[in-house]
Amino acid sequence: MRRFPMLDLLLTNGLVVTPSGAERLDIGIAEGKIVALRASGAGAPEEARRVVDLNGQLVVPGGVDPHVHTNSVLPTAAESGIMCFGPDRVSEGAIYGGTTTLVDFAHWKPGDELSESFARKSAEWSGSTYTDYALHGTFKEPEIPFEVLEQIPDAVANGHGSYKVWMTNTTPTRPKQKTDLGNMWGLMEQTAAAGAMLAVHAEDDDIVMYSYKKLQHQGNTGIEYMHHAHNNLSEKLSFQRAITLAHHVGAPIYLMHVSAREGVDAIREARGRGQAVYGEILPHYAYFTAEDYRQENGAIYHTYPSLKSETDRDSMWESLLEGSLSTLATDGVCTDLDVKTRGKTILDATGGHAGVEMRMAVAYTEGVAKRGLDLTRFVDITSANAAKILGLYPQKGVIAVGSDADLAVLDTTVDRKITASDLHEADYTPWEGYRVAAWPSMTVLRGKVMVEDRKLLGGPDGSLLKQRVSSDVLKRPAC
Ligand SMILES: [Zn+2]
Ligand SMILES: [Zn+2]
Repeated sequence: MRRFPMLDLLLTNGLVVTPSGAERLDIGIAEGKIVALRASGAGAPEEARRVVDLNGQLVVPGGVDPHVHTNSVLPTAAESGIMCFGPDRVSEGAIYGGTTTLVDFAHWKPGDELSESFARKSAEWSGSTYTDYALHGTFKEPEIPFEVLEQIPDAVANGHGSYKVWMTNTTPTRPKQKTDLGNMWGLMEQTAAAGAMLAVHAEDDDIVMYSYKKLQHQGNTGIEYMHHAHNNLSEKLSFQRAITLAHHVGAPIYLMHVSAREGVDAIREARGRGQAVYGEILPHYAYFTAEDYRQENGAIYHTYPSLKSETDRDSMWESLLEGSLSTLATDGVCTDLDVKTRGKTILDATGGHAGVEMRMAVAYTEGVAKRGLDLTRFVDITSANAAKILGLYPQKGVIAVGSDADLAVLDTTVDRKITASDLHEADYTPWEGYRVAAWPSMTVLRGKVMVEDRKLLGGPDGSLLKQRVSSDVLKRPAC
């Protein structure tokens, strides 16, 4: 180990996961960065202001959750102006759960310069977040003016390297948010040329809206019919169209909340042809199925598009294990139980998931403990791949000399039943009674111990990150 000025923090004897595998390492941290990594017990310890013996606990890069929503007016509660929780609450849950970077959405509104939409959303985060954060620029308008599209290269140069677009209005009752294929084509041309990632909420609007009409005609509008409206055919058609368009343009795309086997197949096929297509799944899609809509308060398991069958769920795990799906994100829309369960039908259900704090523990339990996911793949799906796809790597998503000292320490000797009072996001959890095989014991953000022994020690001074997606990720399926 080279001699450095005094270390701020030295973590010894952790089972540390780096891109080359899991081994017993000591991690030296100074000025917010990882400055030293060496085999535990290999010589005299450095001088450090604080030394913590981790005693074999698992150490992974702080989680990167590429998909959370904050302060959004819930479309189905628009008349009352009810919003989901803000960055303070969501980032507090995240930091307790071992996640140190969150990516939210900055909505462009007609009349905005693109830079104004980013500045507006960033102001909501600044000074109130316990994690670092980045923002996808979003377009929820049927038309995106050419003058706005032409601002994308400047925004990308300023560090805003990802955008999102919707292919459906989601329900017949919501405000319009769909961008048609023509406008999406124009957007893709700009993001591809500027070196940005385009995230897509892919559902086939025709199929979804027709299905709503049919279900209403049949009187089948209970939430247990959600997967008949947001169905497998819709995922198949929309994924194929988005992928075909992206192939035509040469644009990289990130397909959010993959929910069906057909979606997984479309992604695998495109990647097989060398196309830069990345897929995201959600923890509850990896665990619950549409049967859970029939439980009491079935709405708490719902996020758009919808839960599907066991076959769909199993195909997602297959793909996570083999590597054709890249990330596990929450699609966090955090509210208390009364808001989440206000809507009980396919027309008025509240989407989104209160699961930011549980994400790392669920990924470990379902992936590593139950299905033999190896530890480097666990890191891939919880931090490294999201950081790569959104241009935050290697600042985030890796334990390496020079990277930000963002770390999650997980105790993997636990067998613990989770209850809402263990968590900090909401007054309920869809994971009530779930048994975890790993539980965060320490979270470090840029060298600062934020949470230790389930106590919050750090303040809300997270920073906005600049995104720059590497050409490797833009050109081929790199992760
Ligand atoms: Zn979406
Ligand atoms: Zn979302």
